[in-house]
Amino acid sequence: MTAIASLTVNGRRYTAPTQPTVVVCVDGCEPEYINQAIAAGRAPFLSSLRERGTCVTADCVVPSFTNPNNLSIVTGAPPSVHGICGNYFWDREAGAEVMMNDPKYLRTGTILAALADAGAKVAVVTAKDKLRALLGHRMKGICFSSEKAADVTPGVNGIADVLGLVGMPVPSVYSAALSEFVFAAGVKLMERERPDVMYLSTTDYIQHKSAPGVGAANDFYAMMDGYLARLDEMGATLVVTADHGMNAKTDAFGRPNVIYLQDVLDAAYGAGTTRVILPITDPYVVHHGALGSFATVYLSLPVAAAEAAARVAALPGMEEVLLRDDACRRFELPPDRVGDLVVVSERLSVIGTSRDRHDLSGLDVPLRSHGGISEQQVPLIANRAAHALPAGRRWRNFDAFDLAFNHLA
Ligand SMILES: [Zn+2]
Repeated sequence: MTAIASLTVNGRRYTAPTQPTVVVCVDGCEPEYINQAIAAGRAPFLSSLRERGTCVTADCVVPSFTNPNNLSIVTGAPPSVHGICGNYFWDREAGAEVMMNDPKYLRTGTILAALADAGAKVAVVTAKDKLRALLGHRMKGICFSSEKAADVTPGVNGIADVLGLVGMPVPSVYSAALSEFVFAAGVKLMERERPDVMYLSTTDYIQHKSAPGVGAANDFYAMMDGYLARLDEMGATLVVTADHGMNAKTDAFGRPNVIYLQDVLDAAYGAGTTRVILPITDPYVVHHGALGSFATVYLSLPVAAAEAAARVAALPGMEEVLLRDDACRRFELPPDRVGDLVVVSERLSVIGTSRDRHDLSGLDVPLRSHGGISEQQVPLIANRAAHALPAGRRWRNFDAFDLAFNHLA
C-alpha cells in the first residue's frame, strides 16, 4: 500500500501498515463507559476483544480537552511539539483571545499526512467541523466532518456526495447522531474506498449529558459497537482511544461546583490586572457552559505570580496551581501559548471566568465536564493481540498509531 517499509514522524518510527488500519478517537470516553456497556450486554464486539484484543489504560494530554488530544493522537506528540494546547487561547502577538482551530497554529506535520505522502490512501472523518482543517492539514486524501457533510467538494474534501454515500441526513451539531454519522461514514468508506489508514473522531455530546451505564450512554456504545464490529469483519485493524475522560462536576444536589476565578482575582487585585483564559471555550458551549477543570491566567504588574498562585491554590476545589515553566514541563505544553499560571481544579469542580460570562441556562442535566488531571485516564483498545509490549510503559492516547503499526500481531 505504501512504497516504503517505515516512516518517521516527529521523531517516532512507524512500520507502514500492511492491512487497513482504523484509529478511532471516542470523544469524552471515560473507560467506565465501555466497561458499563459491556456489563449491560450492549457491546458484544468490544466484549469479545477481552479474548483476542488488547486493552491498556492510557493518559491523555492535560489540558484534557478535545483539540490538544486529537492533534496529539494524529501527530504522535504532545502539545509542546504540535502547539495546539487548547480550543482557545490568548494570542499574545495579536493581543486577542482567539480560537486555536486554524492550521496556522499547528507547528508540525501529522502521521496521516506523512502516510499519504508515502502513497497510502488516507481518510479522516470528524464530527465537528472545528477539527477538520487541523486533522487534514497538508494531507492528500479524504477529510470531512459530519457537521458539514452536505458541503463537501472534491477539491476541499477529496470526496463528493457524502450524504449519498452514508445515506443519513446531516445531524444536529448537538446530537448522538453527529457521532453515528462518523461511524456510518467510516464503514461506507471502508466498503467503497478501502483506505489504508482511517481516523475517525466523534463528539462528546452524549458523554457531557449521561454518566456511564445510563440508558443514553449505553445506547451510544451499543451503536458504536455495531459499527466497530463491521469494520472488524472487513479485516481492519482497529485501535480505539479517547481524547479525554468525563466526570460529574456537581455537588450531591446536582448543582455545578464552579470556581469563578476571574471574580476571585478581580476582588483581590483589581479588574484588568489578570486575565483568566478557559481553553475549553469553543463555539459549541450549550452542553458545558464553557466550564472545565483547566484554566490559564495571565498576570500584569503589580501582581506577583507566586503570591497569586498561593492565593488560587488555597481556594476550595483546586487540585494543582503551577507557574508556567513548571506546568509546561509537567504537561508538555508550549510555553509561549500558556499564561503565567496554570490552574487545575479537582474532579468535582470546574473553573469559570466571571459569573456573568457563563450562560448555564442550556444545562438541562447536571454538569459533566473535563479538562483536568481527573479526566486524564482513557482506554486504549485494539482488536488484535499485542506482542512484546514494553513492561511498565506509561501509555498515552497519542501512542495509538504506535500501538496500531508497531505492536499488534
Ligand atoms: Zn473532547
